[in-house]
Amino acid sequence: MSQPRYIYPFEEGDGRDKMRLGGKGANLCTMMQIGLDVPPGFVITTDACLAYLDAQALPPGLMAEVRASVAALERKTGKGFGNAANPLLVSVRSGSAMSMPGMMDTILNLGLNPATLQGLIAQTGNPRFAYDAWRRFVQLFGKIAMGVPDDAFDAAMVTLKKKTGATQDVDLSADALSMLADDFLALYVAHTGSPFPADPYEQLELAIAAVFRSWNGKRAIDYRRQFRITPAMANGTAVNVCTMVFGNMGEDSATGVGFTRNPATGENAIYGEYLTNAQGEDVVAGIRTPKPIAAMAQEMPDLHSQLVALRDRLEAHYHEVQDFEFTIEKGRLYCLQTRNGKMNARAMVRTSVEMAQEGLVTMAQALLRINPMLLEQLLVPTLAPGHARKALAQGLPASPGAASGRIVFDADTAEQRAKEGEKVILVREETKPEDIHGFFAAEGILTSRGGKTSHAAVVARGMGKPCVSGCEAIHIDVRARHAEVGGTVLREGDIITLDGTTGNVYPGKIPTVEAEFFPELVTLLEWADANARLRVKANADTPADAVRARKYGAKGIGLARTERMFNDPARLPIVQEMILADTPEARKSALDRLLPIQRGDFKGIFTAMAGLPVTVRLLDPPMHEFLPTAAQLEYEISHLRTLPRMGRSIADLPETLRLIDPELPRDYVDSLGKLGQSLAEYRESKRDDAALVRREAMLKKVHQLTEVNPMLGHRGVRLGMTYPEIYEMQIRAIMEAAAECMLEGIDARPEIMVPQVATAEELKRVRAIVDAVRAEIEQRHGVRLHFNFGSMVEVVRACLRAARLAEIAEFFSFGTNDLSQATFSFSREDAENKFLPFYIETGILRDNPFEVLDIYGVGELMKLAVEWGRAARPDLEIGICGEHGGHPDSVRFCHDIGLDYVSCSAPRVPIARLAAAQAKLRVTGAKAAA
Ligand code: PEP
Ligand code: MG
Repeated sequence: MSQPRYIYPFEEGDGRDKMRLGGKGANLCTMMQIGLDVPPGFVITTDACLAYLDAQALPPGLMAEVRASVAALERKTGKGFGNAANPLLVSVRSGSAMSMPGMMDTILNLGLNPATLQGLIAQTGNPRFAYDAWRRFVQLFGKIAMGVPDDAFDAAMVTLKKKTGATQDVDLSADALSMLADDFLALYVAHTGSPFPADPYEQLELAIAAVFRSWNGKRAIDYRRQFRITPAMANGTAVNVCTMVFGNMGEDSATGVGFTRNPATGENAIYGEYLTNAQGEDVVAGIRTPKPIAAMAQEMPDLHSQLVALRDRLEAHYHEVQDFEFTIEKGRLYCLQTRNGKMNARAMVRTSVEMAQEGLVTMAQALLRINPMLLEQLLVPTLAPGHARKALAQGLPASPGAASGRIVFDADTAEQRAKEGEKVILVREETKPEDIHGFFAAEGILTSRGGKTSHAAVVARGMGKPCVSGCEAIHIDVRARHAEVGGTVLREGDIITLDGTTGNVYPGKIPTVEAEFFPELVTLLEWADANARLRVKANADTPADAVRARKYGAKGIGLARTERMFNDPARLPIVQEMILADTPEARKSALDRLLPIQRGDFKGIFTAMAGLPVTVRLLDPPMHEFLPTAAQLEYEISHLRTLPRMGRSIADLPETLRLIDPELPRDYVDSLGKLGQSLAEYRESKRDDAALVRREAMLKKVHQLTEVNPMLGHRGVRLGMTYPEIYEMQIRAIMEAAAECMLEGIDARPEIMVPQVATAEELKRVRAIVDAVRAEIEQRHGVRLHFNFGSMVEVVRACLRAARLAEIAEFFSFGTNDLSQATFSFSREDAENKFLPFYIETGILRDNPFEVLDIYGVGELMKLAVEWGRAARPDLEIGICGEHGGHPDSVRFCHDIGLDYVSCSAPRVPIARLAAAQAKLRVTGAKAAA
């Protein structure tokens, strides 16, 4: 077998072959081949790296190839490697297919030795520069190639500065730097036990081997693990050997970094910084303040226009914004490196739209180049950049965005303080549906328990408010009105800041930057809609949420959770009365009072979404969620029970106290007497008895309703079967609202959806209620109602019985929150802050199944349900309304299996719109390529 070719000069390497040449090497080859001025050099391939790692030795023949390649460099540059009169110096850099910052530093000025150093001095006429280059090379080579610890060099530098009275590196004279280089050489010998190699080929051989070894260094392995870089994405590193060019050869020399467009705003203008008579390192190290590239137009007008021409060539070739490095050596511009520019979300959007409008990229390319998740940054407030505050704790990033406010420990206080005009953060161990008014009032929510699909997370996301959940480091004591985290005590009223995008919790207030829907984003999303097949709807529960969903471009509401409306503090007592009712009549009376309220809610949502479908889900959660907890009730009952005894004790108190002090002041005794009397009168009103009786009844009901596993218990359609009057009231409210809208000329498009369905019989029985109510309302209002009736598919059995369900349902909506829970048998409330992080860190699972749809398990069930459902009813409309509906990978899967829509929280709608377009464009692109 012939030996593979290990080396490609920049003129010959295939710029598309990043796996073999690494990203940096491939780009150097491309730039050279499109005619840009790149200093001559060559790339040693990743194959050579893998062979080295395999055999723990450079592959046979490699150094011969290296020598031949260096000889070619000598010919191209007219310099000699190791030639004391006219030395060729090179840089040696690593570079794999994926950019891995910090894998290995660059070695510069390789080829220097005591003899060539003299040549460099003669050539540059600048001994200070040459000694500086020499001591830097000894340090970098010692550190990077031979593992000499950096501190040893730093200590020598500090000693020398003290000795010479210099305060900064730049204050050191040529003589001082020459002495420093000698010190560094001595250190090298002391640490390696061998002399510093004078032979440039020996230097190069050691440097190449060191780059190869760095692939398996701890930093590189950690980086690959952190960013999930697999061997299929990058396997081994290449080595780039490039002729040195110097930006510090006088006032006609310079060095700098540039972006072809502004990476902060996206503006179409060259952007960057440069320094005349300087080395690249000086720009990075901030030793001198660099000038903006715009200043070059005055200082070096000719080179500035060359730089602008370079920018145009780079963009025209890569069809992408580039981040490049350049050096000007004696009036000649060299491009040393280019790569795709990293930009913030706003700049990505603007450059996409403008590059498409300029014809530099197609509309499809403009849509495909943006990671949809980036858009999240644009749609929520973020912490002001550059703040240096240290986080107190980190929880789960449950709902993105940032907010500051005063801590409150319960929803009532949140509501009260917000009414007084204060900004508050609701801090709870976990939230429950009855805390909903606290969500409305709070700027953000922090919980110490619960995952990213916990109640707090889902509700906060729906409202677009930041939430950090499962922050277990915080210990909350609601009764004492304080929380403790790592020794810091947070009291009610203290200000904290939450960053729901990172999960960080900070003490005090950090300013935030507001989000805005800017024109380029609007354009980009319109293009996305025009290119997508999947429609994107929103999960929204209130008219206000519906308005926001529309603003974000939702094509309807895919899930309105009616329980959110039950939790309004004004309604909860009526809901509780309905639950506590012992007879159907008593329940009916409570339901009769709820009916007009629900009708008003639905009318509000239908009006906000006029012309677009609104899927209303009938009541889902277990009843006990609307009642206080048993512990709370027991606490209240014990207080109420002590009241009569307390009254008697107060009446007896003056006598008791006189036993201790017969001189007890008169007015003291009088006031105690008055208090005792008014308590006795109050007791006669029996109001405390009534409060006690109510709580005792509630506690009894709570005990009755207690379930070992409420999520699998008496909830969803099972409630509708056992208390059909509840569903009937809701169905009536939906239809009456729709009829009233119709009569007022509002185009209401309701859809009725049944949760937790496991059997066709359940669906049939709800359908019967729907038909009966419909007939009655159509007759009463003299209208003909149009709506769809459908089923959530969130129970494993529903997937397996999809054909049967589709005979009754006109649409399916996958509730992938419950379906994932059921498929894995993982409790979604507990898994995320118990074992799931371990599962993900150790690779048992790749992703959190409550965030990223598990296409191999849950996805298979979905595919079955789609296939069997459509076999029974070809025009069955199918969507998804679990949290996954806003995750780009899951959106793509939904596209692939033929769903009609995805529905997600309003702030994620733009993300899903872009992801939906990308899903279709990728399929079309793949077909075109095939
Ligand atoms: C679901 O289960 O995916 C769903 C949307 O319903 P919920 O989260 O309200 O249970
Ligand atoms: Mg569900």
